[in-house]
Amino acid sequence: MRAGGIKMEIKAYAKINLGLDVLGCRPDGYHEVRMIMQTVDLYDTVSLEKTEGGITLTVTLLGKEEAYPAGIVPDNEENLAYKAAKLIKDTYEIEEGVRIHLQKRIPAAAGMAGGSTDAAAVLRGMNRLFGLKLSTGELERLGVRLGADVPYCVRGGTALAEGIGEKLTALREAPDCFLLIAKPEVSVSTRYVYEHLGEDTAGYRPDIDGMKKAIEEGSLDGILRCMGNVLQSVTEREYPVIGRLKEQMEAAGAKKALMSGSGPTVFGIFTEEEKARKACETLQAENGAGQIFLTGFISPEKEEG
Ligand code: ATP
Repeated sequence: MRAGGIKMEIKAYAKINLGLDVLGCRPDGYHEVRMIMQTVDLYDTVSLEKTEGGITLTVTLLGKEEAYPAGIVPDNEENLAYKAAKLIKDTYEIEEGVRIHLQKRIPAAAGMAGGSTDAAAVLRGMNRLFGLKLSTGELERLGVRLGADVPYCVRGGTALAEGIGEKLTALREAPDCFLLIAKPEVSVSTRYVYEHLGEDTAGYRPDIDGMKKAIEEGSLDGILRCMGNVLQSVTEREYPVIGRLKEQMEAAGAKKALMSGSGPTVFGIFTEEEKARKACETLQAENGAGQIFLTGFISPEKEEG
């Protein structure tokens, strides 16, 4: 986070799910989950500037001047970043305003928490911009009012997320690897995926405890063995491109490929940089692969110093 008095720029990192299990549906409609979350080095840049009053928001796609394609990411009060600013302003009765600019790089509606991480960045940024001195725990408790993934995005790193995603246990930093991320050109409704869960998962349950243990032991092999997402078969049935991307990545040398969140993003874990690079070039050259990124895990706390 770079703070300069009344203006600042924050990196809002995306996440992937190394493991995702759904335990059931609560009476209020939220699902009980157990997820292993991991921050990846792919981020939106969130700029904040103090103003005399109100909240303004603009959104562009990184590297482009024009506004983000309408209808994909809202540039109004529906945007989670705007909602985060309003929540802070209302809760702490702040008279002054904030100008927010989002430079989007994280694919939208992709299973990478693009909106949640922008909201978390606004919470963290406004905390500093307005000298609120809120702890990370307090920011997480505010964040859950905006969305189940926001508390994790406030904290970042490697973590077990339980409850609706807001009960967090920090885990040891996951071992380094090369990560290929592919977002096919389809958008997935998280709601649709959860509503159709249970129809064809064939009793499959990812081994979240095994994954937790593997992370604590620093074992990439163990992580690869336990990687699993209970939502994958639901989204894959709707969008076969997900299955194809996984096969392509594994044929190109990924030790394992998996869908993140409710999809449709697929990530592949490589241990050899050369293979990851070649796989990236191959996917980029082919149709239907959408946005492709070659990146890795990151621990934001370390990054911020
Ligand atoms: P998750 O992994 O938490 O389920 P996601 O990656 O599937 O999230 P998002 O990128 O957060 O999904 O987008 C979901 C919807 O949220 C989008 O279709 C968009 O309309 C809305 N949205 C609101 N604010 C934002 C934002 N700042 N960035 C992206 N999408 C946003």
